[in-house]
Amino acid sequence: MTLLEGRGLTKKFGGVVAIEDVSFTVERGEAVGLIGPNGAGKSTLFRTITGVHPPTEGEVYFDGDEITGKSQHEICHRGLAKTHQIVRPFESLSLLENVVVGAEYGGREFDDTRARAREMLEFVDLGDQMHADPGELSVGGLKRLEIARVLATDPEMVLFDEVAGGLDPEETEGIIDLVGDIVDEGKTVFLIDHVMRALMSVSERVMVLDNGKLIAEGTPDEIQNDDEVIEAYLGE
Ligand code: ADP
Ligand code: MG
Repeated sequence: MTLLEGRGLTKKFGGVVAIEDVSFTVERGEAVGLIGPNGAGKSTLFRTITGVHPPTEGEVYFDGDEITGKSQHEICHRGLAKTHQIVRPFESLSLLENVVVGAEYGGREFDDTRARAREMLEFVDLGDQMHADPGELSVGGLKRLEIARVLATDPEMVLFDEVAGGLDPEETEGIIDLVGDIVDEGKTVFLIDHVMRALMSVSERVMVLDNGKLIAEGTPDEIQNDDEVIEAYLGE
């Protein structure tokens, strides 16, 4: 059953066409990867889906309802959450307090929001640092904090925007394992990376965006052997 669908999504910024006529579906429980060279429009697609900005044309459906143009907050409340490519926690709050804010933003009622935030920090392996400040974290730690923040909203589906971006191979592997655990828990996942390697292991299906257009879709194996995809990357 389809959980998320985009129909004919186009987003223009003045004269720049960031994405053009993009249509796709993600099934409930699926893990789908989105790859494409820098500037292909990946983050714009995710922002258009999650209400950061409305599409210029096209529609978005989540769980059977049209959500086009709805606010980020409302979309998150419906169970569709996104990590930010650039993580900007509240520097004056502890990790725990940052995740509490995330849990409250999601608008769900929890018996104990702090307990939920603690549980999420433990899940991402930051449990022993929950009273530290975000400034003490490595880049990988910040990505984990961002994942905890998003999970605290109790989403049904998570969009990850380059959650392994800028990490060394060991940190990347740790984060990808974490995404795998989230998939195993039954959440639907749509994740961006601009390098194929990282997301191939968790994605059942991969879509490729180049110059704002979807140019290929298939299993990780099919995508890695697709001539058009190889060419898009060689031109980078
Ligand atoms: P990717 O995430 O694949 O690297 P982006 O979605 O960030 O690509 O960007 C796609 C194109 O849209 C780029 O040309 C970028 O400069 C442009 N773009 C993205 N966001 C904005 C914005 N808020 N204002 C103007 N141009 C933007
Ligand atoms: Mg991006």
